[in-house]
Amino acid sequence: MAVKYIFVTGGVASSLGKGIIAASLAKLLQARGLRVTIQKFDPYINIDPGTLNPYEHGECYVTEDGAETDLDLGHYERFLGVHTSKANNVTTGKVYNTVITKEREGAYLGKTVQIVPHITDEIKRRMLLLGKTGDYDVIITEVGGTVGDMESQPFVEAIRQLQWELPEEDLMCIHLTLVPYLAAAKELKTKPTQHSVQALQQAGVHPDIIVCRTEKDLSPEIRRKMALFCNVKPGHVIQSIDAWSIYQVPFNMEAEHLDDMVCEQLDLHVPEPDLSGLRTFLDKLRNPHHSVDIALVGKYVELQDAYKSIQEAFVHAGVANDCRVKVHTVHSEYLDESNVAEKLSGMDGILVAPGFGERGLEGKVVAIRHARENGIPFFGICLGMQMAVVEVARDLLGWNDAASAEVNPVTPHPVIDLMEDQKSTTVKGGTMRLGAYDCKLEPGSLAAEIYGRELISERHRHRYEFNGKFLSDFESVGLKASGRNPQTGLVEIVEMPSHPFFIGVQFHPEYKSTPENPQPIFCAFVAAALKRKENA
Ligand code: GLN
Repeated sequence: MAVKYIFVTGGVASSLGKGIIAASLAKLLQARGLRVTIQKFDPYINIDPGTLNPYEHGECYVTEDGAETDLDLGHYERFLGVHTSKANNVTTGKVYNTVITKEREGAYLGKTVQIVPHITDEIKRRMLLLGKTGDYDVIITEVGGTVGDMESQPFVEAIRQLQWELPEEDLMCIHLTLVPYLAAAKELKTKPTQHSVQALQQAGVHPDIIVCRTEKDLSPEIRRKMALFCNVKPGHVIQSIDAWSIYQVPFNMEAEHLDDMVCEQLDLHVPEPDLSGLRTFLDKLRNPHHSVDIALVGKYVELQDAYKSIQEAFVHAGVANDCRVKVHTVHSEYLDESNVAEKLSGMDGILVAPGFGERGLEGKVVAIRHARENGIPFFGICLGMQMAVVEVARDLLGWNDAASAEVNPVTPHPVIDLMEDQKSTTVKGGTMRLGAYDCKLEPGSLAAEIYGRELISERHRHRYEFNGKFLSDFESVGLKASGRNPQTGLVEIVEMPSHPFFIGVQFHPEYKSTPENPQPIFCAFVAAALKRKENA
């Protein structure tokens, strides 16, 4: 069977949830027995989002093979339960980088290098790349940005060209738009959709299906009207109504027959989807018997996408514990000794988030001390683990000058230090310790009990590490290294056996959590929080 390509574009506004629609469609096709992957094409010039502040585009997601990617790849992995890779996230920066490098090598000798055909050829090559691996039946490509933006034009042009290059039954386009409800007029408005489809058609791309984000049901008349004005088949305008959970969206799309239309158009003869696994998850998510309050202490709390994978991992771990996890984001910049008890009051667990740089760092230390001294379950991720080490050094070892070399390179107690191989690194992009590494767990430790095995693998994104020089000092005050990289000995996990639940991990366990495979540390942390609450 030829590989099928589905392109998902967006119009009217950003943040409509194109990634969720793409992932939901992928889930439905996967549930019909097809091998599906999703890729994201982002219009910005950065080579990857690794150098972006989370305020720009939310969390930076990390794949097994160490790509720093758009957070939508996290949704793809959570919905599909399959790994993505470097090839699944392409930016304009990557495309230009390849073309310009080839130009310098002399690959276009004599030719003027232009957007069409050279840039669009490179975009098309990357759009088709995963289809050539033989691993997939369907490739869904989400084009970032909004149709009509200057930046996304070359991507749209590449799709236009592919419409002629691929057999008709192997390619289709889905356009996601917004149908706003004007409360004053008590009316849903279709004009923005008409204009955005017009912009797409002017660029030569014809959408086959229009998915409308809406807060009110679209009547049959309004759907017919849009189909007429937007030049698509009647019935090919469907709604994506605001859902109570993102994991409900595949069911909503199934009810709108999105997958039926796609299979018909792409000539795919496959059974009806079996979504029973996700259904069971969703039923449990809707009616939990318990609840806990967890503080998520970080410095990007104003932005709901900044800690996306952590938030999602809590949804999964909650279901695993029959428990609603209410995550309260707490701004570490405004946390100090005088207000910590008040700001963290009522919390059954405290998670200290990953991050970079100095801002909000001391607030994290204060939150960790509060958790440690009051026996509140604590979970530190990456920078959160590093600050736990700093906190213990200052309070239990009495080293008031203890710090991470990231913020204090001259301290006599650099308990967190730059990794050896980072010392020669001068450029920022893509140079951290990235992606999956093995970690060997200490038998009998909390970590070993949580994972139920000795060798694990988790994903990383950091430059600094626990300074092994001070390990025996830490052990003497009860902070143990319970997980290490088997090759380098790098300390990956610290824990405090005298505390009900105190664990810090150098890696990012949140990236691998899915509804069907909730992450073990998140599950154990929620269980510990629940235990504390119920014993209170
Ligand atoms: N800034 C720290 C480091 O580079 C922690 C990184 C993180 O939390 N992802 O090691």
